[in-house]
Amino acid sequence: MNQHERTAFFSILETAVRQADPEVAAALGNERRRENDGLELIASENFVSPAVLAAMGSVMTNKYAEGYPAKRYYGGCEFVDVAEELARNRAKQLFGCDHANVQPHSGAQANMSVYLATCQPGDVIFGMDLSHGGHLTHGHPLNYSGKTFKVVPYLVRQDTETIDYDALRDLAKQHRPKLIVCGASAYPRTIDFTLIADIAHESGAMVMADIAHIAGMVAVGMHPSPVPHCEYVTTTTHKTLRGPRGGMVMCKSELAEALDKAVFPGVQGGPLMHIIAAKAVAFAEALQPSYREYIAKLLENAKVLCASLQELGWRMVSGGTDTHLMLINLGADGISGKKAEDRLGKAGITVNKNTVPFDTRKPYIGSGVRIGTPAVTTRGMGPNEMKAIAKLIDRVLRTEDETVWAQVKGEVEALAKAFPLYG
Ligand SMILES: *Cc1c(COP(=O)(O)O)cnc(C)c1O
Repeated sequence: MNQHERTAFFSILETAVRQADPEVAAALGNERRRENDGLELIASENFVSPAVLAAMGSVMTNKYAEGYPAKRYYGGCEFVDVAEELARNRAKQLFGCDHANVQPHSGAQANMSVYLATCQPGDVIFGMDLSHGGHLTHGHPLNYSGKTFKVVPYLVRQDTETIDYDALRDLAKQHRPKLIVCGASAYPRTIDFTLIADIAHESGAMVMADIAHIAGMVAVGMHPSPVPHCEYVTTTTHKTLRGPRGGMVMCKSELAEALDKAVFPGVQGGPLMHIIAAKAVAFAEALQPSYREYIAKLLENAKVLCASLQELGWRMVSGGTDTHLMLINLGADGISGKKAEDRLGKAGITVNKNTVPFDTRKPYIGSGVRIGTPAVTTRGMGPNEMKAIAKLIDRVLRTEDETVWAQVKGEVEALAKAFPLYG
């Protein structure tokens, strides 16, 4: 779509909503402008193509299709079956897995279905600690995973701030877990899935690798793949994969039947067929050479942004990044992550506060901010813009002066205007 067609596309969508519901239409228009005019640096966010959006907004939302292609509990599934088969086959091609279940409504549900397929309540599971980069669904006490299983968290090393694989091996020998969960939400370094799988298998555990954040790099071979080594691989489809909001589970053929039963009827009812159609579209896009180029650019942008922030004096967790994301450690005596997030927000720069390893502040306050390049790279920004963004972030974080934040906001809008998104 060219810029003119895009503008027409959004105008039709918003007109349809406005006629039925002016209040929601106003919120939609404002959100589109917010995305268009600001700098989106939240590492888990991205911007989908009009094709993915259109598939999500399609008539397939109307269809009940409990079950799987050719084995449904409802009639009239011949066309949604086509969409689900395309999504499954493209996922297999993209990740080289034996089996893919594309029905999980989210990353959290993808993980829940693997727990249901592998563990009994009270079993011991391992997950990386939330404040060291893990995810809530990897055993946090407030999450069903933490409430259902005996969770042993593993950590990063204090000196390198990278996963302490030796300690993980010792823990595995000591606790003999049923399942080791690896993968992270706020970990900037390459994860050694082969080593984790070896550690797990030595102690009789299975492995679930959650690649929610790094799926895009894994798909194009720019992060080592867990697929050959781990029994289960889960992901979201809306982060670096740049598809609709949703989840997916991959596994070996011999585990497929039990996994499918765990997703439906174990965890979910009717699948979201419009979202599954949009997953198929996003996977087709990810199989194009242009997606590979996108991932290469996003990684280069992360390196440049990280190095530029370091040159300006900011300390990065683990001293850098191998991925699409980085974490500034603002320090125990610096401003908090919450303050930094608020301040940057006032300047039109969206990030999220985050804890850092061995943080002394509470998670809601945090001593870090997480920054990622997937969304700004989708807009077409490159290394020069990353250097400029580092300076904007630096100016905002170093002053209490609101006039400076407002000034930066003007510069952010000018930068965003040069890379139009949704018109
Ligand atoms: C984002 C994320 C999830 C959860 O995805 P939702 O779709 O928000 O439920 C799970 N695991 C990891 C590692 C994530 O980063």
